[in-house]
Amino acid sequence: MRETLILNASFEPLSTVSLRRAVVLVMQEKAVVEQSHPGLRVRAANVELPVPQVIRLRRYVRVPFRQRAAWSRRGVLVRDRHRCAYCGRRATTVDHVVPRSHGGGDTWLNTVAACAEDNHRKADRTPAEAGMRLLTPPFEPTPADALLLALRLRDGETLPEWLTLPTPA
Ligand SMILES: [Zn+2]
Repeated sequence: MRETLILNASFEPLSTVSLRRAVVLVMQEKAVVEQSHPGLRVRAANVELPVPQVIRLRRYVRVPFRQRAAWSRRGVLVRDRHRCAYCGRRATTVDHVVPRSHGGGDTWLNTVAACAEDNHRKADRTPAEAGMRLLTPPFEPTPADALLLALRLRDGETLPEWLTLPTPA
């Protein structure tokens, strides 16, 4: 099932909705299509539309609280921009800061992107035990990270130019 990213009128990412729901919002003129899958079309109520990848609400809605992004290995790599937390080089693996064997969990605050070499070197130890230092501590994903995850961009793919993301601190 395809999902569509839904943005607030202010371009702030809100969540993802099913394709069906996205089409309904567009048909009801509650949302506009900002980006669609190239070449894919959907038929709804005798109208053919490009399959929306991102839609934006016409009216700003106040969101009382944000849904937190679910943890995933891919999410950790996206959050850390595929940079190793120990050396800053390209990361392709996910390291548990406190190893699972020590009770460390699959959480945003216990996982970092790591290059294969550092992940192998650290092995089943904490950074202190391995004599390794984290360049930056792990953190909960920002709305910008959530957006990248929702868009399912592959590494190296660029964001559409109408989107401006807050720069990571
Ligand atoms: Zn490394």
